[in-house]
Formats: sequence, structure tokens, C-alpha cells
Amino acid sequence: MRTLRRVCVYCASSNQVAEHWRETARAMARCLSRRGIGVVFGGGSVGLMGALADAALGEGCEVIGVIPKKLLELELGHRGVTELVVVETMHQRKHRMAELSDAFVALPGGWGTLEEIFEVTTWTQLGYHEKPVGLLNAGGYYDHLLAFLDHASELGFIRPAHRPILQASADPDALIELLLRAELPKLDGAVLRGPAGP
Ligand code: AMP
Repeated sequence: MRTLRRVCVYCASSNQVAEHWRETARAMARCLSRRGIGVVFGGGSVGLMGALADAALGEGCEVIGVIPKKLLELELGHRGVTELVVVETMHQRKHRMAELSDAFVALPGGWGTLEEIFEVTTWTQLGYHEKPVGLLNAGGYYDHLLAFLDHASELGFIRPAHRPILQASADPDALIELLLRAELPKLDGAVLRGPAGP
């Protein structure tokens, strides 16, 4: 079983979602805090990000936000976090978030959340890091996406050996348990090349 010092949490910036989704973010914050795991996140004060950071800070958790200067200047940054790392570009931000974290979780979110979780999943697939990745499928939010990923795997677009890289659970504690135990595929040229096509 691996140790998780910090988990990177990607989640919605939207304020236009029902209150219970914010509660989902708080539940994840409480789960991480109970386990003594720090939070790395996008540094925003809005949407589920704000709810996550506020709840984690309230529980006494270490919370590191990583935000590009442009978003900070738009006053979207959370000013109360343990540490706010300000970077120049979105690419630097994602790189720094990944460096600081031992695992990645996506809560419900939109474009940004999807983009971020898929990027780190690809990095695990290609062996750029050996870190587990999970979706918090709260309220079945990701049911359709998970069905699509199974479909993509059945068709061979996602190699079946790589499909388990992205774990999922509706429950924060169950998800963290999966990440603690996840066996990541070893980087293998044969798997990446696969059988010769027709
Ligand atoms: P989205 O899912 O499209 O709402 O995007 C949320 C994700 O993108 C978060 O995990 C952040 O890393 C990043 N992000 C998007 N908008 C903001 C914002 N206003 N402030 C900080 N981070 C943001």
C-alpha cells in the first residue's frame, strides 16, 4: 500500500450548481483531513473549489493552491489557503500541481476538471509519473463518462491494461482506499504497441 501525503483535487469552478454538490466537495475535504492528507487544488475561491478549500482549512488541513497570475488578477484566487503558489501559465500550473501531489481525484466539474484529470491519467499511462487517479462519482455524476470509457476500452482505443488506471467510487473514503491500493501498469512497450493490426 502506498502513502499519500497530498492529493490533488480537481473540481468545478462553477457557482451555478446545486448546493449539494458543494457538500460533496466538503465531504472529500473531511475525508482527506481525517486521514491526515493535504490538499492541492487550483487555488480558486469559486464553486466546488472554494467549498473544498474552506472545508479543508476548517478541518486544519494543509491546503496548497496553484493558480496562474491571470486568474489571481481576476480576483478568483483563494486568499486564505496555507500556501498559494502563483505561476505564469496554465501549463506551469498543472505541472506544479502534479509535482506536489501523490494522487489525483476529480470531483464533479466541467471542461477544466475533465481536462486536468485526463492529462494526469495519460501521464500515468505513459510512465511520466507513477501516481493513481480517481473520479469521485458522487450522485452518479460520472456514470455516462465511465460507461463511455468502458466502451472505448472494449473497442481497444483505451488499452484494456490501462483502463483500471482511472478508478472510481461514489464515496470519498472508498475512493481513497482504491487509490492507496491501486496497482499501476508498468510502462511496457509491448502493451503500448499492442498486437499488429489487420
Ligand atoms: P471547470 O471544471 O471547467 O470548472 O474547471 C475547474 C478546474 O480548472 C479546476 O480544477 C481548476 O484547476 C481550473 N480552474 C478553472 N477555472 C478556475 C478559476 N476561476 N479559478 C481557479 N481555477 C480554475
